[in-house]
Amino acid sequence: MNKRDYYEVLGVSKSATQDEIKKAYRKLSKQFHPDINKEAGAEEKFKELSEAYEILSDEQKRSAYDQFGHAGPNQGFGGGSADGFGFEDIFSSFFGGGGGSRRRDPNAPRKGNDLQYSMTIEFGEAVFGKEKEIEVSKEENCETCAGSGAKPGTQPEKCSHCNGHGQVNVTQDTPFGRVQTKRACNHCQGTGKLIKDKCATCHGKGTVHKRKKIKVTIPAGVDDGQQLRVSGQGEPGVNGGPAGDLYIVFRVKADPRFERDGDDVYYELPLTYAQAALGDEIEVPTVQGKVKLKIPAGTQSQANFRLKGKGIKNVHGYGVGDQHVIVKVITPKKLTEKQKQLLREFAEISGDIPEEQGSSLFDKIKKTLKGE
Ligand SMILES: [Zn+2]
Ligand SMILES: [Zn+2]
Repeated sequence: MNKRDYYEVLGVSKSATQDEIKKAYRKLSKQFHPDINKEAGAEEKFKELSEAYEILSDEQKRSAYDQFGHAGPNQGFGGGSADGFGFEDIFSSFFGGGGGSRRRDPNAPRKGNDLQYSMTIEFGEAVFGKEKEIEVSKEENCETCAGSGAKPGTQPEKCSHCNGHGQVNVTQDTPFGRVQTKRACNHCQGTGKLIKDKCATCHGKGTVHKRKKIKVTIPAGVDDGQQLRVSGQGEPGVNGGPAGDLYIVFRVKADPRFERDGDDVYYELPLTYAQAALGDEIEVPTVQGKVKLKIPAGTQSQANFRLKGKGIKNVHGYGVGDQHVIVKVITPKKLTEKQKQLLREFAEISGDIPEEQGSSLFDKIKKTLKGE
C-alpha cells in the first residue's frame, strides 16, 4: 500500500510548527469527521489525517518519520495506537473545550505494544478448530523489580532535568523565524524518571526477554490469512498501563484433495468413461467424512454436484458451506487388446459423430485458425 506523505496529508510544509500542524489538522478533521461528513471516503481520509497528526504532533515520532519515512515511527504491529494514543485524546482536547496542547505525560499509564505471531496449521485444524500451545518470545515485566527497573527497596526518582515531564523546551532558529519545540529529555530518555540503583536482573529496563507458552484456541472454520486477537498477551504496559495484545495470523496448509473457497469446498472427482456414461454410486471424500453420491447416466466432464452442508463451518457461526463435486472424465491411456476391440465395436455402433454436436468453443477456435 502506498502511503501519502504525512505533510502532504495535512497540507503543511516540512518545517511547519506544532501550532500550524495542529491548526491544519483541526480544520481538516472537522471537515472529514465521520460524524459530520457522510460522503464516501471521508472516513478513510479522516483516518489518514489522524495518523498523520499522530506522528507529526509528536516530535520524537516526527523526527523518526523525517529520517526514515513511513517505516520510522510505526514499527510495531498495530501501529500508532500501540502507545495508547487514541482519537478520543484528540477530540477531548478539540471539541471537549480543553484546547490546550496535547502532550503526552510520560508518567501516564500506556498500553503495551501489540505483537504478531504467524501460525501455520493443517487444513483439518482450520476446518475443525483445535487447542494448541505456542511459544512466543517477548518482553515481560521483570519479576525482580516488578517492572520499575529500580533495585528492590529503591524507587526511580523524578528526573531533575525535565522535572519529570520527559520533555524539554528547545528553541530553534529556522528560516521561518524562531520556533519553540519540545524534545525528549536526554537524561531520562523521555521517561521523566531516573533510576539510581538499577535492578540487576533487567539492568533498569523493567522488562526481560522471555519465551512464554500461550494456549491458543484455533477457531473452527478459520481461513488462511485470518487473524485472532489474544487480549493482553502482547508486551507489558508502561506505568501500570494494560498489556498489549497478541495477534495470531493463521497460515493454513493446503489439502491435496480439496480446494477451499470461503466456507465452500471444491473436489475434483475422476470418473471412467463407463461410469460417466452408465452412471454409478460412488463414495466421495468431504471434510466431514465420506459421502455417497449417485452419478446419473450420461454425466459430462465438468458436471457439478453440490453436497449441501458438507463444506466448512463458518468461523463466525453463520451456517455451514457446501462441497462442490466437479466431474472429470478420464480417458484411458493404456488399453488391453480386449478393451480396444470392445471400444472399436462400440465406435462402430455409435458412428463417428458425437450426439451433442454443436458449435463448441473448440470448433470456433479451429475455424478461426483456418481463417473460415
Ligand atoms: Zn528528564
Ligand atoms: Zn528488574
